[in-house]
Amino acid sequence: MTEGSDGHTAAYTVSVKALCAFGAKAGDLDLRFVPAPSAQEGIAGHSLVQSRRDDDYQSEVSLATVVGDLRVRGRADGYHPKHRRIEEIKTFRGDFDRIKANHRALHWAQARSYGWMLCEQHALPSITVALVYLDLDSGEETVLEERCTADALREAFQALCGRFAAWARQESLHRATLAASFDALVFPHAGFRPGQRELAEGVFRATAARRCLVAQAPTGIGKTIATLFPLFKGWTARRTDKVFFLTAKTSGRGVALESLRVLGRGCRSLRVTELVAREKVCEYPGRACHGDACPLAKGFYDRLPAAREEAATRAWLDRQALRELAEAHAVCPYFLAQEMVRWSDVVVADYNYWFDGSAFLYALTRDEVWRVSVLVDEAHNLLERARGMYSTELTESALDTARRVAPAGIRRVISQLHREWRAVQAPQTVAYVAGNTVPEPFQRALQDAVAVMAEHFAQTPEAASGPLQQFFFDVLQFSRLADSFGSHSVFESHVGVEGADTLAIRNLIPANFLRPRFEASIGTVCFSGTIAPFKFYRDALGLPDDTLSLEVDSPFRAQQLSVQVAMDVSTRWRDRAGSLESLVNIIATQFAARPGNYLAFFSSFEHLDAAREALARRHPAVPVWTQSRGMREAERDAFIARFAAEGQGIGFAVLGGAFGEGIDLPGKRLIGAFVASLGMPQHNDMNEVMRERMDEKFGEGYAYTYLYPGLRKVVQAAGRVIRTESDDGVLHLLDDRFARPEVRRLLPPWWNVELVGAA
Ligand code: SF4
Repeated sequence: MTEGSDGHTAAYTVSVKALCAFGAKAGDLDLRFVPAPSAQEGIAGHSLVQSRRDDDYQSEVSLATVVGDLRVRGRADGYHPKHRRIEEIKTFRGDFDRIKANHRALHWAQARSYGWMLCEQHALPSITVALVYLDLDSGEETVLEERCTADALREAFQALCGRFAAWARQESLHRATLAASFDALVFPHAGFRPGQRELAEGVFRATAARRCLVAQAPTGIGKTIATLFPLFKGWTARRTDKVFFLTAKTSGRGVALESLRVLGRGCRSLRVTELVAREKVCEYPGRACHGDACPLAKGFYDRLPAAREEAATRAWLDRQALRELAEAHAVCPYFLAQEMVRWSDVVVADYNYWFDGSAFLYALTRDEVWRVSVLVDEAHNLLERARGMYSTELTESALDTARRVAPAGIRRVISQLHREWRAVQAPQTVAYVAGNTVPEPFQRALQDAVAVMAEHFAQTPEAASGPLQQFFFDVLQFSRLADSFGSHSVFESHVGVEGADTLAIRNLIPANFLRPRFEASIGTVCFSGTIAPFKFYRDALGLPDDTLSLEVDSPFRAQQLSVQVAMDVSTRWRDRAGSLESLVNIIATQFAARPGNYLAFFSSFEHLDAAREALARRHPAVPVWTQSRGMREAERDAFIARFAAEGQGIGFAVLGGAFGEGIDLPGKRLIGAFVASLGMPQHNDMNEVMRERMDEKFGEGYAYTYLYPGLRKVVQAAGRVIRTESDDGVLHLLDDRFARPEVRRLLPPWWNVELVGAA
């Protein structure tokens, strides 16, 4: 039972938005390209309308009511007591008449619901209900209004609640059953593995204190179960609505689902939904998501209730299950999954569903005021992924193409954009320049281009495809990032060969963008096998200052891994060629002493090729297989398959690439590794800009730009060797710099490092 601020108790609380989405949505799914206002534009539009009203006008009026077992809450956009007029504000672009009838019906349902709630609150016999549509481009309002009696509004509202009531009862029952089974849940294995209990307790304590946690725990201890289990045990106490398990890669989703299956045996009602990218699950690739183009969008909302009903009963909604359900009910699997997020307990999804600029899970959580716990798997990946989410670039060739295909009105603004582009690059005498601001005239030209193209696509949505639309998205993204530009990013200008010039906004420190995401959760746990130093990640990711950290000791013993630093090898650029002979001799000597499978890591394909050739020349009998650029999945699988338990040879790979993490070769499948690089990014203009910025912000430019990211890759790659407590192996660190104290401090404390060879 929940108790509202009005003192009523009710079994189930629902927002007006969710109530209407459930009971008043009908007809086609229609995501025909409309340049939808961004969240910021929507908020700004609401504020604009509200600011135009007189002093008596009340904005954002909180309302709540109870109907039977249902408590409904929400916030009306505006109420004018003197005129007894309630307003629901919607923003749009383009032709007003193109707003779909089923969208308008939904808007009316929301507005009338607020109308009734106000009538009830103020005991009004009647009220004017107004839908205010603000055209974002012209600033004009189109107002639809009706005078309604309280009785009529109550009737409509009760009918809406009636449609939801049976579902709400089912949901209440589900929640109660789930809470009881979580309370009774026991750890699914006979005992905790070493380190696993420590991690589980750390997660439990952090979320109990409503703090975020950065946890480093070794591979193989069962981190996924160790992080999920405490969240389930604390589910009731934390009043949790949902857990989001976020992964960097598809393989991570598989591991999470497997662990959830294991945990789910103890709580059968657990509902799990897997979110997969649209392009991977779309049944009609290449078509647009609207009823005229895709049969699964036609009448989607009419068939959704039955699909939703069955999906909720099934509970386990991974990609396959969603596909089967969607097929059975002739609805789109992608949008069915999005709907089922509302009714699921755990959602397994890629990082971008929570962290990127228009993240679906984040937006829904805010809308629905959910209490969510967030788990970020392999969280060392988040920094680079987030930088990508908040970076963008425009190429001159894309601009030229767009200008060529654009109709006259648009060509004018693209040409203007091009002129401002040229003005940015005209004084440039070197290939690369980084700036601390986006030049204002260029920014204005971006805004103009966005406005004109948005208008064009709003008027002619059927024209929305091809290079012009792609260019519009690129410009829109650029313009939005220019609006939020700050010292966390740089404005870059690259002058290349003809047509290859680019302008870019490159995010260096995503902290500002990610901070609200952490704040929106009741606790976020970022965990990984290699996520240290903690301060570096806390600073760069924008985790709260009171974030806790936990380092779980490795269950492995120093005797399991012989770690040798080759003092007579230098992989510095200037020394590389001269070091090749020593380097390949170490590899060959180790292989001769203990034949078996090894991995050898290099900083680049060039260095890899040079070492492979040197080894083949001097030690032709040593079997070698190599990673190549842009390997397909089957080729990657073939590379891994060479590591058979009875096999012998050396797999050459690039540090930080496909084989440096996420592969599991226990026992004899891998008995050693050679790491011929400190993994540090190249010293170049772009990285030097990063170093300066990191220095200004955190006083640790070199470490934050080069040392920490580099050594993380080394430790990740080396971590391939010892996977279980019965493994043993050898690790050769092929560079004298590994002996430096600041580098050794970053190596796992359980390694017993030996320096070999002349310094
Ligand atoms: S099946 Fe594909 S085209 Fe159809 S609605 Fe779903 S995502 Fe869109």
